[in-house]
Amino acid sequence: MTTVLNPKRTVAELKELRELTGDENGSQRVAFTKTWLTARAWLRKKLEALPVEIHNDAAGNTWTTLRGESDKALLIGGHIDSVPNGGWLDGCLNVVAGVEILRRINAQFGGKPPVTVRLVDWADEEGARFGKSLFGSSACSGNLDVEEARGLKDKDGIRLPDALKEVGVDLDRAKDCGKELKNAAAYIELHIEQGPVLLDLNLPLGAVLGTFGVERHAITFHGQAAHSGSTPMNRRKDAFLAAAKMSPFIYQLAERHGGVCTIGSCTTKPGIVTSVVEDCRITLDQRHLDKAALGRLLQDARDASERFAKEGNVTATWERIWQIDPRPFNDGLIALCDEAIRETCGRVHRLPSGPLHDAAEVAAAGVPTVMMFVQSLHGISHNKIEDTKEEHLELCVTAFDKLAEKVMRWIK
Ligand SMILES: [Zn+2]
Repeated sequence: MTTVLNPKRTVAELKELRELTGDENGSQRVAFTKTWLTARAWLRKKLEALPVEIHNDAAGNTWTTLRGESDKALLIGGHIDSVPNGGWLDGCLNVVAGVEILRRINAQFGGKPPVTVRLVDWADEEGARFGKSLFGSSACSGNLDVEEARGLKDKDGIRLPDALKEVGVDLDRAKDCGKELKNAAAYIELHIEQGPVLLDLNLPLGAVLGTFGVERHAITFHGQAAHSGSTPMNRRKDAFLAAAKMSPFIYQLAERHGGVCTIGSCTTKPGIVTSVVEDCRITLDQRHLDKAALGRLLQDARDASERFAKEGNVTATWERIWQIDPRPFNDGLIALCDEAIRETCGRVHRLPSGPLHDAAEVAAAGVPTVMMFVQSLHGISHNKIEDTKEEHLELCVTAFDKLAEKVMRWIK
């Protein structure tokens, strides 16, 4: 069945795209820019060789449809946009592999597969220019906050609605693209891991369980500024002391409940060398695949902040910056992904995704979803050194194709 599938061609095409849209600093396919349009035109040309329909939806996502005997559709998704100075695989691996899988399905079923197969190139997954990720897929799921999007500007002061107009997208109509999901029976997405888990396990491929839920907060400890020479240690209301105790504590928390916790910033006032710290603001980012466990991570952190504040004779206030629920993927599809990987390379690992992906939005819209990860060298992404062994790239195309075949049968 896979005689037509040519994973080496996928690797060659990825290099072609890198040549066309990258420079010495990495990939430059930032959404809604000229280079992005160049990448999309390149992709379209590849797809036009197949008997498919191609159109852009109301949010600027590109849909390529190979009609099948049934209207029920298998969706394969990815994003050709990149961050500035990005890697050569993040996002575009998914779409370029998708092209190869469409070729195989088209050849195998003489242009008429048992179910409809659609490749979607989501618009602005990265949010690199306007600071808000998942534009196209969140418009499609209905989660896009249009009013918030209206106020976004890039570093040159260009407004998102104007940048969208340039590429033919009317922000007020963007959510109309939700109708594209009407016959969606399953969604699959291939992605580089962007972390070190598969590398450390020495495994090429993994089945993704879902994307982490996130709780993001700012915690401010309030004490009292006082002279660093004249104030005895036992008389201080040192906001930094309480904040500093949070640092080792979040490591214990992650040990206790799983997930990950990060204190990503710490600022002090007055912030001078001769004063006890009056105000100390830290940010806390907590992520977990399980909603209840994420709730425990947060509650324990709140309790600890109160305790440390009391010990130091200061107070603590919390402010939520952002929150998103975990998006677990479909159990049946995870099992099929597992099977496809096992058949391809013998061993598999199941892992959650720390980063968000378009797949999280599709899952939130109620479409059964799964992702497959391929190992990242150095465990690094969003950087020009992002890389994956070519043999692993070929393996992932083969395994992802097997998954597509299994999911078509599952839909039928
Ligand atoms: Zn990506």
